[in-house]
Amino acid sequence: MLRKLFGLGKNTGRKKDPVAEQLGIDPEMCYCPSCGDEYRADITTCAGCNIALISGTEKLSQAKEKTEAFFSRSMEIGPEEPRVAIKGGKLRDLKPYQLLLAKERIPALLTGQEGDCRKG
Ligand SMILES: [Zn+2]
Repeated sequence: MLRKLFGLGKNTGRKKDPVAEQLGIDPEMCYCPSCGDEYRADITTCAGCNIALISGTEKLSQAKEKTEAFFSRSMEIGPEEPRVAIKGGKLRDLKPYQLLLAKERIPALLTGQEGDCRKG
């Protein structure tokens, strides 16, 4: 599954939609809408979930929609927005958390408290 996510799946040499490639979706295959398993185009039902498969094209348009929604998410934190403190500690220890959250398009602030040596 991870290999699919990172688009490192099989290389067939066929010319493909670069987005499809990146998402690891082959428009000529079928996919289970529940578990995401990939099937040959002539198979109509997921063996694991026993539900009807969707075409690769359909899965691709769904995935593209999702991706667009994801990247259009704002990374700005407005003054009115509620904030939650999730972790305290040294700035250099917290930086990885901020990066992790940013990967999921979740904005995070690292705020100094007393004893913080950064001075504006
Ligand atoms: Zn399934």
